[in-house]
Amino acid sequence: MTPNKVPLILTPTPLHRLDRLSRELGADLWIKRDDLTGFALGGNKGRKLEYLMAAVLEQRADVVVTCGGLHSNFIRQLGAACAKFGVACSAAVMNLPYEDERPDLDPMVVDNGNVLLDRLLGIDLRVHPDATWEELYAMAEELAQEHEAAGKKVYRIPIGGSSPLGAYAFVQAAKEIAAQAEPFDAIVFASSSGSTHVGLQCALRGSATRVIGIASDPEPEIAHDFADLATQLEGVLGEPIGLAADAFELDFRFVGPGYGVPSREGDDAIRRLAQSEGIFLDPIYSGKAFAGLLRLIDEGSVKGRTLFWHTGGLPSLFAVKSEDRG
Ligand SMILES: *Cc1c(COP(=O)(O)O)cnc(C)c1O
Repeated sequence: MTPNKVPLILTPTPLHRLDRLSRELGADLWIKRDDLTGFALGGNKGRKLEYLMAAVLEQRADVVVTCGGLHSNFIRQLGAACAKFGVACSAAVMNLPYEDERPDLDPMVVDNGNVLLDRLLGIDLRVHPDATWEELYAMAEELAQEHEAAGKKVYRIPIGGSSPLGAYAFVQAAKEIAAQAEPFDAIVFASSSGSTHVGLQCALRGSATRVIGIASDPEPEIAHDFADLATQLEGVLGEPIGLAADAFELDFRFVGPGYGVPSREGDDAIRRLAQSEGIFLDPIYSGKAFAGLLRLIDEGSVKGRTLFWHTGGLPSLFAVKSEDRG
């Protein structure tokens, strides 16, 4: 059965060529403007939320519970969608969730960027001390159970909105670009919780288009999570997809000091796109992804018609300490 959706974003988002930068690079570079969804300051999460919110409303949930980094773009857009439909939104967050060892990093100021917007939206943000991702997921589950104990009907959404419905949204997004432009040789974007990558890879499997995710997280195991999500997406599509972990092209070279922490190369890429095209990127996802794209072009490993999928994230530009900006 085709999933229902509620309208949140203005589609199609613009897709256009980057003429000046293409000339500078000797490339044929295009951009998909999901920073301009017209919803809650933009970003790729609006697409997922059209399907996720439809499910929330179908289940008549009182409260949506999720988790993420304190600077999560997903939580901001989720909070806006919940506000629009009169559903409560509750999120377990940490400044800097980490994998194994506590990193010695302190990237963000707390009460600016997405955090400021989250507060304006009335999101119930439960800020926890930094710990591992697994501990963050456990705290989200505790939060959900706290609401259930109070008699509320809870809808749980995984980090980044990367449920099968989130991935389905990006299967549809691939159809959107097919109606806007001739096929591309490569599509490059920031990849993290996986539904963007899984949806695009699913839609473009077997085509001549390479789908390249520039990882925002350092853990190579995420490819296995992506394969699991692809298997779950089969349940939504009602057909086999057959994408194993090695089907996902992920480049881990541009994470920099860590997830959620700006990198020098990412910051250089932000300046490059700003000064050549007047378009802004963010320091945690799209800036690092654009740094990856510039390197792939420079190395000659990406050629021909190339699409950068701008996934948004702009509030984070205002939430990172200025000395990291250079
Ligand atoms: C969430 C996010 C991504 C990654 O998308 P996933 O579907 O989680 O992999 C990339 N860029 C920005 C700005 C994001 O907020």
